[in-house]
Amino acid sequence: MEFVILTGASRGLGAAMAERLLSPSRQLVCIARSPNESLAVHARASGARLDYRLHDLSDASVTAQLAHALGETLRAAAGVSRFVLINNAGVIEPIGRVESLAAAPLAVALQVNLAAAMLLTSAFLAATESSGAERRVLNVSSGAARYPVAGWSAYCSTKAALDMFTRCIVAEHAGRPNAPRVCSLAPGVIDTEMQVTIRAADQADFPPVERFRKLKADGALGSPAQVAERILAYLDRDDFGEREIDDIREH
Ligand code: NAP
Repeated sequence: MEFVILTGASRGLGAAMAERLLSPSRQLVCIARSPNESLAVHARASGARLDYRLHDLSDASVTAQLAHALGETLRAAAGVSRFVLINNAGVIEPIGRVESLAAAPLAVALQVNLAAAMLLTSAFLAATESSGAERRVLNVSSGAARYPVAGWSAYCSTKAALDMFTRCIVAEHAGRPNAPRVCSLAPGVIDTEMQVTIRAADQADFPPVERFRKLKADGALGSPAQVAERILAYLDRDDFGEREIDDIREH
């Protein structure tokens, strides 16, 4: 049996991945603040094992409790051949010039895009260390982790830090038994609510906004379903983790 934990499963890319992960032979634990009714209906209809938990990953103490609880769940899991963690939840805001950064939205971005992923990975690796099962961690990054974007200083910085965190996991586990396979993967531009937020930004806050409006107008955005399928095929590959920083558009 495979055991998968997926954050940000209520909509967008995460919801599309969750739909594809539903299976009677897989335990799927999903995390988001909002429910996903269609996922629950499909899980019931297909006999899939879905454990959907409502949590706010922007709250550090809630995230700490969740990490602890997930650790207990993972330790109690029996007959698991592969454990997988997909850190997908993310926020694009705050969008705006560096001069406009405010403490509260900045703290949310740091917590959701970075600290929550770090803490959940920590609990995941600790709880599965002596399981003997294979372990894989997929961090959903962004092209914006790898080049600066005006107006996205919080997003670029948190995603760049997520890339570095991924590299640190690899460095720490080099040469150790049952080292996890980890990758920080940019998914390309996808037609989700995050892109709606991006296109609605004021040009003064986000100078490249027109490029994103044109991508939508030209039909150049990936569909969540197609990107989810490609990412999950990539996650399943025998060489997953050989490239710790990657971009699905290169595959
Ligand atoms: P989305 O449509 O905005 O969905 C974001 C997901 O994250 C939702 O399920 C949301 O659930 C969850 N989330 C946000 N804040 C949360 C919180 N405080 N606690 C728990 N869950 C939270 O975004 P998306 O486009 O699918 O993005 C998915 C991932 O891909 C993100 O990491 C994003 O940075 C990355 N990405 C997206 C694009 C793109 O073009 N869309 C490009 C590059 C990278 P709730 O709101 O229900 O909590």
